[in-house]
Amino acid sequence: MKVRINARKRKRMNNKNIFFRKKTRPVKVGPYILGDGQPIRVQSMAKVHTRDEQAVIDQAARLEAAGCEIIRVACATEEDIKALGKIRAKIRNPLVADIHFNYRFALEAIEQGVDKLRINPGNIGNEERVAEVVEKAKKHRIPIRIGVNSGSLEKDLMQKFGPTPEALVESARRHVAILEKHEFRDIVISLKATDVPTMIGAYRLASEKFEYPLHLGVTEAGTLVRGSVYNAIGIGTLLQEGIGDTIRVSLTADPVEEVKVAKMILESLELRKGVRVISCPTCGRSEVDTAKLAREVEDRASGLEGPLTIAVMGCVVNGPGEAKGADFAITGGKGTGMIYVNGEQVKVAPESELVDELFKEIRKRI
Ligand code: SF4
Repeated sequence: MKVRINARKRKRMNNKNIFFRKKTRPVKVGPYILGDGQPIRVQSMAKVHTRDEQAVIDQAARLEAAGCEIIRVACATEEDIKALGKIRAKIRNPLVADIHFNYRFALEAIEQGVDKLRINPGNIGNEERVAEVVEKAKKHRIPIRIGVNSGSLEKDLMQKFGPTPEALVESARRHVAILEKHEFRDIVISLKATDVPTMIGAYRLASEKFEYPLHLGVTEAGTLVRGSVYNAIGIGTLLQEGIGDTIRVSLTADPVEEVKVAKMILESLELRKGVRVISCPTCGRSEVDTAKLAREVEDRASGLEGPLTIAVMGCVVNGPGEAKGADFAITGGKGTGMIYVNGEQVKVAPESELVDELFKEIRKRI
């Protein structure tokens, strides 16, 4: 039985007109359509050598369990390319081969059954090579992501524009023109920069110029906390403007953290309904360990299906009020706490048993 969604939450869920999603051309990646107003898909990248097939398969399983929908792998060597077929056969998510410069790798990756290529056609050599890759991608019906990055812009663009949104978009335009010349339009574009204002400016400009779906990301954003903030501001700003069709949070951290942050960005803008744990910042009024309770609730809630809101509040000052807007809530007392379901207090329990008791109530209802 699904939990009844209370009135305040239902009102919030119905208030969807704040976002106008810019319509982009639909591009199929495995079972998903990117663009065309379809749900925004979460991507991440394996952080082990692709040639180490089992390590990729294991990491992909963890990513999938965390909610990742598209997985990219770096293909730097012949051995990496040869591993793609086995990886493809063992994972459920669409697989993207990330290739730089080497058109032969691109051809072989398609043969191995990947669902998408990330390659910049302007970097793979002469017309013949481009034509070969495009023909094969067409035959196998797989899209190509053009990935422009502020760290590897063409020299002439750097001289003319510097590392600006205009330079990133002009670089993408050149690559797009090459594919369009070959009548290839299953294109996704990314324009990643390390600084957030440039990244935001580039995607805004691109959304005016191109009809293709945009893959959003801040590149080399940093470690967990800094990187999460930079990604949330960059990606979040654009999503809030209706720009973006798929997102990859880039962190110097376990890729599962990237997926968690990406999902939180989507949930914060109510573009996706997940399990949301609201917790107060705690203060001198709290007589329970609110941070520990919130961590435990968040860990145990990660296996639940949304939409669901759980509030963890340190005391009765704001606790009952927040509980009214949540499906389930804990409010701390003096070494004890109250449990609420849909805003109604259903139980009082000692602090040490609060989380267990909360989850007993949750399991009864979902
Ligand atoms: S709910 Fe209570 S403990 Fe938490 S921040 Fe507010 S006043 Fe402090």
